[in-house]
Amino acid sequence: MLRTEFFRFPERTAIVPVAALVVFLAVVALPTASTAAGTAGASAAKSGGLGVPGKPEITDVVCVEQCVSARKATPGATVEVVGRYLNRARHVVFAGKSRDVRVRYRQRKFNRVRVVVPGTAVDGRPFVVSSSGFRSNRAPRELEILPVRMIPREVFPVRGSFNYGSSGAKFGAGRTGYSHQGQDIMASCGTRIVSVRKAKVVYRKYHSAAGNYVVLRNLGTNTQFAYMHLLKPSKLRPGQVVDAGRLIGYVGQTGRAYGCHLHFEYWIGSWQRGGRPINPLPYLRSLQKG
Ligand SMILES: [Zn+2]
Repeated sequence: MLRTEFFRFPERTAIVPVAALVVFLAVVALPTASTAAGTAGASAAKSGGLGVPGKPEITDVVCVEQCVSARKATPGATVEVVGRYLNRARHVVFAGKSRDVRVRYRQRKFNRVRVVVPGTAVDGRPFVVSSSGFRSNRAPRELEILPVRMIPREVFPVRGSFNYGSSGAKFGAGRTGYSHQGQDIMASCGTRIVSVRKAKVVYRKYHSAAGNYVVLRNLGTNTQFAYMHLLKPSKLRPGQVVDAGRLIGYVGQTGRAYGCHLHFEYWIGSWQRGGRPINPLPYLRSLQKG
């Protein structure tokens, strides 16, 4: 289960991620397109009493930038309202101190709308209003609005139940011809993986051993973290700056991995470019206390 054989990185990995991405996009795009085109009737049938075809419906509101956590935003944070018929949403309405605060969308698609949280918003369950005046349901769960100083500086990378596996999962564990350069964190496939710190994306690639992986340079430090075996290619882009807690991807077992887990590496200096890996376990344990 723990034989995560991960060793050296050849330089020639440029073609693989492109091919992987094309396949991924093809798989993802087709069902999305057919869903978008064909659910007017199904929606009316499914949503029972609410059944106005084309009326915006909300299933969740998730913070994506400048977040304390997934459902704890800050003034100025970007949040994504998830649901359907949201390409008709013009405004997102947040709770305010004395009255509701209405904000025009930044980006919208069939299944999501992005907006910036206004400075006067308070905890509540947002809803959207369409161009023709239709009001959606309220978000099923509350979105909390907290001060920017509450944004965590460091968070544990796996957001769900996990364990550190057996001896073979440890840093320095024997492998044929080399030693294990990270710590494996065992968790169910599909568990969210987030950036531990505010960081800049250095690599987002695929490798036959590492699977889908990203390497992030921690801003303000001389350290880099690698996150490997992701279920699917990360949506992050090289050069992008992410906050602590930002979604990187999901636990998977791509590449040479036996069992779902995150392979986590902690490097002093540049990953595979003159730096050296250290045992991440004490640091990971310190994050659990937070
Ligand atoms: Zn590993």
